[in-house]
Amino acid sequence: SLTGTDLHLRLGHNDVLRGIDIHVAAGKTATVIGPSGSGKSTLLRVLNRLHEPDRGDVLLDGKSVLTENPDRLRRRIGMVFQHFNLFPHRSVADNIALGPRKLRGLDREQARALALEQLEVVGLRDKADARPAQLSGGQQQRVAIARALAMRPEIMFFDEATSALDPELVKGVLALMTDLAAGGMSMIVVTHEMGFARTVSDSVFFMDAGRVVETGTPDALFDDPQTPRLRRFLSDVL
Ligand code: ATP
Ligand code: MG
Repeated sequence: SLTGTDLHLRLGHNDVLRGIDIHVAAGKTATVIGPSGSGKSTLLRVLNRLHEPDRGDVLLDGKSVLTENPDRLRRRIGMVFQHFNLFPHRSVADNIALGPRKLRGLDREQARALALEQLEVVGLRDKADARPAQLSGGQQQRVAIARALAMRPEIMFFDEATSALDPELVKGVLALMTDLAAGGMSMIVVTHEMGFARTVSDSVFFMDAGRVVETGTPDALFDDPQTPRLRRFLSDVL
């Protein structure tokens, strides 16, 4: 499980996070929705310690991570962003194998075998020796997911993983994320895909101006929003 309690963060003159509580149980998927600038990406960055919170705590399996070595922590949390940042001059398989070789101590053959296994999972085994540029955006994003999974993370974070993709490519990436969720991966997914939030997630957190304004099951939030703020947001995006 992952828990953030009373997280506060000020950046410059902005109170970006103003007392966030978030929880995702092991094997479950939480989605984070909310308007642009509400602090969703910053929250993920605090949860994996790319930012240190000014106040509050982050617990993985009940233990605070704020004293843990940040590099070690980032191996326990897989991150997938909007822009996938694959190394352009390396093959797809090498992109995936690099982390396990450097950080998990696998030798070349083991890392290659692991890369191929992860490519199988994301349906791209036949692209192992291609360069990233030879793949579509959706395929590159699936490689980025395979790369994160190859580190055997305890939980996966997705930050608008489909926002930069052409509409026809979004579906394949969402299908893969849905498979991961169904397979019992713990996930926190920041998304504008309300269909995904509604059908795949176990819980939804609606953020506005650095706070979680509403949280609950997808049915509760989408069918029976309690705050004018969420009602307005849903009528804007749905
Ligand atoms: P979007 O949906 O557009 O991705 P978001 O919900 O992910 O938005 P964040 O990127 O977390 O929003 O930003 C939240 C707020 O924090 C914004 O007002 C932003 O301007 C501010 N902010 C982010 N980074 C910094 C920084 N380094 N210094 C000052 N303010 C920052
Ligand atoms: Mg963001």
